[in-house]
Amino acid sequence: MHYLDNSATTAVLPEAVETMTRFMLTDFGNPSSQHSMGIKAAKELKSYREIVAKAMGANADEITFTSGGTEAINTAIFGAAYKNRHIGKHIITSEFEHSAVKNACKRLEEDGFTVTYLKPDETGHISAEDFENALREDTILVSIMLVNNEVGTLQHVEKIGSIIKNKAPRAIFHIDAVQGLFRVPLTPKKWNCQLMSVSGHKIGAPKGIGALYISRDVKIRPYIVGGGQEKGMRSGTEPMPSIAGFAVACEIRQKNMTEDLKHVSELAEYLKSELQKRIPWAKQNGQPDVPHVFNVSLEGCKSEVMLRILESREVYVSAGSACAKGKESVVLKAMGFDNKRIDSAIRISFAPFNTREDIDALLDGFEQGIKMLKR
Ligand code: PLP
Repeated sequence: MHYLDNSATTAVLPEAVETMTRFMLTDFGNPSSQHSMGIKAAKELKSYREIVAKAMGANADEITFTSGGTEAINTAIFGAAYKNRHIGKHIITSEFEHSAVKNACKRLEEDGFTVTYLKPDETGHISAEDFENALREDTILVSIMLVNNEVGTLQHVEKIGSIIKNKAPRAIFHIDAVQGLFRVPLTPKKWNCQLMSVSGHKIGAPKGIGALYISRDVKIRPYIVGGGQEKGMRSGTEPMPSIAGFAVACEIRQKNMTEDLKHVSELAEYLKSELQKRIPWAKQNGQPDVPHVFNVSLEGCKSEVMLRILESREVYVSAGSACAKGKESVVLKAMGFDNKRIDSAIRISFAPFNTREDIDALLDGFEQGIKMLKR
């Protein structure tokens, strides 16, 4: 099997599975319980929070566990908008955000907020100048992604954060760092960012766990209310197995980050040079800043058919983000590409376990597909 769709999701690391099993079969206490099993769980929860906080460049008391990236993003966007609506009703985001951000903003528009959607350029970047021009006195929230999930570009979050600080200091800055965790070091304080979302299943933890960084400097309105867990920011019994799996994955990724980055960079270079040799007319989409994502169009070969051909050879990639479910890529459209380019786009995304053999298998599949589709 050649799994090259790691931006959609990753395999859970065996060490994470092992720890999760302990929390399901043996140490299954509720961290809010007052007996020794609960106290033990609460103690372990504290240490796992510290590990995740370190991975996010934050303090432990700034981390709220959520059910994933989507919930972290919804909590951030609704929480900030409703907390700040007495100050203003203007929000800035971009046209190529993940649908969790986009649809939360659309919902706020229905509720009377005004949203400016910045357009990325053809390389896949938002211009700081456009951002500065869009900023208004009544801007209360900015939500920009760190690493784009389809083209792997990194946005100028430090610059954006400093513009907010100087021109609209009351606006809250949220970063969707779901595709950034362990791709680049997360430094929310340096970026003047008060809210930042991550997700476990992109880094070898299970699906259904994520975290939201909420800086000590801001207060937002909780999105899920109930028993008051997570300091009232996210009610519901903490999913200890998933939190433990997330923390174990973070520890492993943190330890190997430099080595993993070197390996993935070499793979990306190999893919680029082999593609150039074997399919020189292939067009790369965007100019990625992280090596984990590579987006290419083979014009004349429809993505969905190419995906099937690759799948028959046990090569797994995607046409765009998994949640687009085969619909046209909003990201590539926002970047200004024409339909020919969008319809034939393939996203390849790496994890540290990938090898050159995976890339060779992908390129063999591409060549077979091209022969069939261009006949
Ligand atoms: N944001 C980005 C950039 C993503 O790529 C994803 C997942 O694909 C999400 C948010 C949503 O995360 P989750 O699947 O954990 O809800």
